[in-house]
Amino acid sequence: MVLLGLGAFPQDPVSSHPAIQSSSDPGSHIPDPGSRIGNWVLVIHGGAGGPPAGSMPEEKENEYKEKLTEALGIGTEILQRGGSSMEAVEAVVMFMEDCPLFNAGKGAVYNDEGVAEMDASIMDGSTLMAGAVTGVQRIKNPIAAAHLVMDKTRHVLLMGEGAEIFAKEQGLELMDPSYFQTPERTEQFERLKKKQMEDRKDVIEPPGSTKDPDQGTKGTVGAVALDNMGNLAAATSTGGLMMKMKGRIGDTPVIGAGTYANNATCAVSCTGTGEYFMRNVIAFDVSALMEYRGWSLEEAASFLIHEKLKSQGGGGGLIAVDKEGNITMPFNTNAMFRGYAKAQGGSRVEIY
Ligand code: ASP
Repeated sequence: MVLLGLGAFPQDPVSSHPAIQSSSDPGSHIPDPGSRIGNWVLVIHGGAGGPPAGSMPEEKENEYKEKLTEALGIGTEILQRGGSSMEAVEAVVMFMEDCPLFNAGKGAVYNDEGVAEMDASIMDGSTLMAGAVTGVQRIKNPIAAAHLVMDKTRHVLLMGEGAEIFAKEQGLELMDPSYFQTPERTEQFERLKKKQMEDRKDVIEPPGSTKDPDQGTKGTVGAVALDNMGNLAAATSTGGLMMKMKGRIGDTPVIGAGTYANNATCAVSCTGTGEYFMRNVIAFDVSALMEYRGWSLEEAASFLIHEKLKSQGGGGGLIAVDKEGNITMPFNTNAMFRGYAKAQGGSRVEIY
């Protein structure tokens, strides 16, 4: 048996996490928007690519916390008035795509040619329907396009130009590729490009190496939710990895790798070096371990992130909620921007 601490967690492993109980930062709470009814749950992430604790200026940390809090507020409002989990995860991810702090939509990282190529996917746990787009350079909100692929086509995944033409036909906003660029990303790109020229080793780091060549270049945003009807949904959106090869596709638009939702088990959104999440089919495997092995959400997610991926050198994390409303947010990196809100049980945002 490879699991550590099996069965040691109470119903809600997150609220018992020492980092959460000991936090006294008032900025990490979202205001209580009034009486909360039902059993809805929302969990979000802003990527597992943050720097170690203590190395980010406090001001920047607070900026992230504020945006995560705002994102939770948007989802809370929807779920509280009886909106669906699909509606909530899409709205939350759209908000984070529009926020330049996160690696998705505006603020997405660049490929090795200096262009943002974005991926997104969404899945409805009540129908097992899913939609995704990959390698898009002009769609303002890739998650909205992913949802339309699910609703309006007989396909699951559309790429590049075809996805953009479809999005435009559906009335979504297309932007000039320069819209997605920010001074911070341009500076990061130029620094890494220079490093790449100087040190080719960094580029040919073998897969599985414990020295993670993508350290500090990850991001991604995601949301999972359980609504008052008992329906689960998951959504993920990303610019991928900074300096990725042109045409590279990660786990985010791949259903089962970066995103998965099934009312029988759970909803999952992943972040990290996508190649590892794809090879290990992580999002689906959380669900599979629950469905076929009877593991709890916490056991399945913790095993995959802290044991399976870690042993391979795969950095990242995931957020998940199960059909009972239990949540988990494990990561094996320095940090993962994350937060949750619950109809019964408050809300919290965390970075480390
Ligand atoms: N998983 C994303 C990818 O590999 C990146 C990330 O989550 O930071 O494209």
